[in-house]
Amino acid sequence: MQKLQNYIDGRLVEPASKEYIDNYDPSKGEVYSLIPDSNEEDVNRAVNAAQKAFPAWSSTSVEKRCEILMRISSLIEQNLDKLANAESKDNGKPVSLAKAVDIPRAATNFHFFATAILHYASESHSMGDLGFNYTLREPVGVAGCISPWNLPLYLFTWKIAPALAAGNCVVAKPSEVTPMTAYLLSEICIEAGLPNGVLNIVHGYGNKVGSSITSHPDIPLISFTGGTKTGAEIAKIAAPMFKKLSLELGGKNPNIIFEDCDFDKMIDTTIKSSFSNQGEICLCGSRIFLEKGIYEKFKTEFVTKTKNLVVGDPTDSKTNLGAIVSEDHMNKILSYIKLAEEEGGTILTGGNQVTLQGDHTNGWYIEPTIIQGLPYDCRTNTEEIFGPVVTLIPFDNEDDLLMMANSTKYGLSATIWTENLSRAHRIAARVHVGIVWINCWLLRDLRTPFGGVKNSGVGREGGVEALRFFTEPKNICLKL
Ligand code: NDP
Repeated sequence: MQKLQNYIDGRLVEPASKEYIDNYDPSKGEVYSLIPDSNEEDVNRAVNAAQKAFPAWSSTSVEKRCEILMRISSLIEQNLDKLANAESKDNGKPVSLAKAVDIPRAATNFHFFATAILHYASESHSMGDLGFNYTLREPVGVAGCISPWNLPLYLFTWKIAPALAAGNCVVAKPSEVTPMTAYLLSEICIEAGLPNGVLNIVHGYGNKVGSSITSHPDIPLISFTGGTKTGAEIAKIAAPMFKKLSLELGGKNPNIIFEDCDFDKMIDTTIKSSFSNQGEICLCGSRIFLEKGIYEKFKTEFVTKTKNLVVGDPTDSKTNLGAIVSEDHMNKILSYIKLAEEEGGTILTGGNQVTLQGDHTNGWYIEPTIIQGLPYDCRTNTEEIFGPVVTLIPFDNEDDLLMMANSTKYGLSATIWTENLSRAHRIAARVHVGIVWINCWLLRDLRTPFGGVKNSGVGREGGVEALRFFTEPKNICLKL
């Protein structure tokens, strides 16, 4: 069985413990490879390698850094099929999705930040005859990057690429649930000629590797994407150490639909924003708010279209929803469906585990599920489920809508469907989130600030925000 290795100081190496963790193929519910069970010793080795590499990498010209990162981007593109198949096998998502979205985006992340750094400029503030200031923006040192399992290579590279482009060295940990493409990335970095120690990837559990990264005194900056509870634990450790911290956390996003929307566009996109990647995208719209006049029409068509979605073998091109990432997560989603019924909800379609035939019979699958009739403030409507489950909630007017939409502790994103632009802007301004899409969903421009408010996170990723996060400003004042 394939044994993955850590990537430390430019080499693929065994974990210090020599112990390994089972890695599952969720589509079959079986172990198919082994992951290093790393610990503090591996993290220390990775930090030492990163510290050793930092002086040379941080003073490498931006042109040279760009050239190396572009090579990584090209190699990701050249390995599209291999990486997409690996991502699907590790995570359960359809191969077609990994091929169209996850892997191309990972290549783009490197491409985007490799070139962004060429255009990154710092500020100067003139004081007239008195003097002037200029601000240097220097790499921080060793950056700790921790990412989740839902968009494994996509989110891993979304952190690593800007950190490296800005001249930092990195110690990174992918989720132990989906380590494969991070491992393949380490092979790509070696082939691309990334100098030893510039990027180090340590595999293993969050409570060992993740917390060793978070608490390491020589890692002054942590970029984390994952659950809100984990984010709070990380903040508790990092805050008294005065680390720079970026937290991209959970969501319970409202999808707001007015009667005057472009119905066909809205319904097709709503299918995607509800069930893409089995609903395991932090930006999925899990609470669908419907203006009363459109409720019945929407319900009928949405249920019909949802029933037509194929839950199946992720390698089959006809599959719309693949496997849920792990048995634990499947059980968590099913427990929320049960809770919804206990809270008085009616399941309009779905609600059950799916058992496939043949060699996929032990895989972890759930029907796309639509629920109505729940109070806006019940647990089903306020806690993150992170699966193919959405609820329908009617509203009468904008004030009621906003009261309900803003009532959770989360504030990541919102989608608004209306042809009335004044209303769209009015709602967009009053909904408490970091990202709003009007008449679209997941239309991404990598230059824009990305992140949430309230319990959805602290700080922003993307474009110049990421480059600012991964650099430290130093102001120099000169008196004339
Ligand atoms: P987790 O918070 O469980 O894990 C995220 C990462 O943190 C994993 O690598 C995990 O390792 C690691 N980790 C776990 N415990 C610790 C710890 N004590 N210290 C340091 N690291 C730790 O999230 P999931 O992987 O379950 O991802 C799903 C969550 O991510 C959802 O809540 C989703 O909303 C959120 N998310 C947010 C996004 C955003 O941009 N706002 C984007 C995508 C997802 P291990 O796997 O070993 O536990």
